[in-house]
Amino acid sequence: MTAPDPVAPTPPNPVPPNPVPPGPVPPSLVEASLKGLCPRCGSPTLFSGWTAFSDRCRVCGLDIAGFNVGDGPAAFLILILGAIVVGLAIWLQLTLAPPFWVQALIWIPVTLGGTMWSLRITKAALLVSEYRNAAREGRITP
Ligand SMILES: [Zn+2]
Repeated sequence: MTAPDPVAPTPPNPVPPNPVPPGPVPPSLVEASLKGLCPRCGSPTLFSGWTAFSDRCRVCGLDIAGFNVGDGPAAFLILILGAIVVGLAIWLQLTLAPPFWVQALIWIPVTLGGTMWSLRITKAALLVSEYRNAAREGRITP
């Protein structure tokens, strides 16, 4: 038995390395936001309640609690949805002049439902964006 020649060139690798590991295809931002999908594996595991995030994805183990979407979506939605609802209520009052109880019967459920629905979507969109852009707390490095 002879030892390998240390000077001899090594044969080229016949199989090129695959830079993208095989795995689940991440969902689009819109799809993940509307359906509450995990940004990594696409499973519907982003939320544990209507607007409460899960701590961790049950399928791929992504640490969802590690993301911080803060109160940005809620404040943004209050301003937008409040302006829309008040504008529509004023328009309804000036156009049809319904009694107060009709206004309350219409706009309280619309406001609550619209807030919960849009809060879920915007929170998911912000979390998915943080995941995709690897967003972290700002740091100043010397
Ligand atoms: Zn996942």
